Amino acid sequence: MFKAPRGTADILPEEQAYWRYIEEKAMSICRQCGYGMISTPAFEDAGLFTRSVGEGTDIVNKEMYIFKDRSDNELALRPEGTASVCRSYLEHGMDNLPQPVKLYYFADIFRYERPQAGRYRQHHQFGCEAIGEASPVLDAEVIHMAITFFKSLGLANFSLQLNSIGCKKCRPAYLERLREYYTPLKDQLCGDCRNRLEKNPLRLLDCKKPTCQVAADESPKSSEYLCEECGLHWESLKRYLTALGIEYILNHRLVRGLDYYTKTVFEIQPFEGGSQSALGGGGRYDDLIDMLGGKPTPAIGFATGLERIVLNLKSQSIEVPHNNKPALFIACMGEEAKTAALKIAADLREAGISVVVSAGERSLKAQLRHANAVGAASAVIIGDDEVKSGTVMLRNMETGEQQEVQPDELKKLSAI
Ligand code: AMP
Repeated sequence: MFKAPRGTADILPEEQAYWRYIEEKAMSICRQCGYGMISTPAFEDAGLFTRSVGEGTDIVNKEMYIFKDRSDNELALRPEGTASVCRSYLEHGMDNLPQPVKLYYFADIFRYERPQAGRYRQHHQFGCEAIGEASPVLDAEVIHMAITFFKSLGLANFSLQLNSIGCKKCRPAYLERLREYYTPLKDQLCGDCRNRLEKNPLRLLDCKKPTCQVAADESPKSSEYLCEECGLHWESLKRYLTALGIEYILNHRLVRGLDYYTKTVFEIQPFEGGSQSALGGGGRYDDLIDMLGGKPTPAIGFATGLERIVLNLKSQSIEVPHNNKPALFIACMGEEAKTAALKIAADLREAGISVVVSAGERSLKAQLRHANAVGAASAVIIGDDEVKSGTVMLRNMETGEQQEVQPDELKKLSAI
């Protein structure tokens, strides 16, 4: 028997209500904030991600699903959403539109990770990107949008973690400072971090190994090494957030796992679950469009994983509307009754009423059990007598009361 590949999951009908709930809230907040929806391919030229996410990152080095197609093109299943949106922004000349261009997406994301609760090899993200504006007003707006989104879902018990990692002007001096700090501690670092020390010392800050975490706690803070421009941006952002009533926790170890971030980085963390359970995260990526061959274009974005949201909705016992129950179930006995049932169902569906028709040869009792199982509010029973009289029996599934009605009357009864 085949099984879904490790780290992937089927989203069964009873789970779908959560997904529709999340998508509707996401679309509604995007409409409110002036974002347009975009969809991009599930795979891209692998180079798009190596160049943008960065060659020294876990995502590119260890997690990317990379393959050659039959024409020898090197492709990768998307390991994140931002690079594809930026590629599309450039490919379709969106830099000629009034800026910022605001786009949102739902995308399945592929990362070869060690599967565990809340961590899969295929997961789904809702993300938004605002491209073409450098002002910290936009940072505040995107963060506000993320928080409002989670609150609109009914979620509580999360914090906003915030940091600034500077830009290409001020970061080199900070990285040098980090190397100085870490070099005497080299022996207590994990093998990966010893390698990162030369190539990508920023990554040492978010290593999950306990000894590396202890070292990171006392490490120099990037927000203390900002150039004038990044410093002003950082101060303005904090002021805007305070004005919006958004509480934040300064976290100097928050650097995010992708190389393209500049200045503002942030994560939404549930109170319970630790640093690997982030509900969402984002930040500014002022150099990314430039790195992909466009003119320098500042931008900021945010993404959240739908599986993580579902886990949090469940753990916080948040009810979501389940509207997949049919209004009517039609039980029928005999060949002529089946024909009548099909016609009545077609009529009712045309009138916008959801109907399930029982198609097999089961007893009336078994059919009514089925009506109960699918959660139908009422059942319509059609047997030989009803076919002869042209009427049907309408049964209230809760009380068991039955009454004879004309098929036409069902439309108004079931609309109630
Ligand atoms: P990232 O692009 O790593 O910042 O991820 C953005 C969000 O996607 C995270 O905050 C999580 O909610 C979610 N996410 C990331 N990786 C996974 C994964 N492997 N499985 C499930 N959700 C994930």
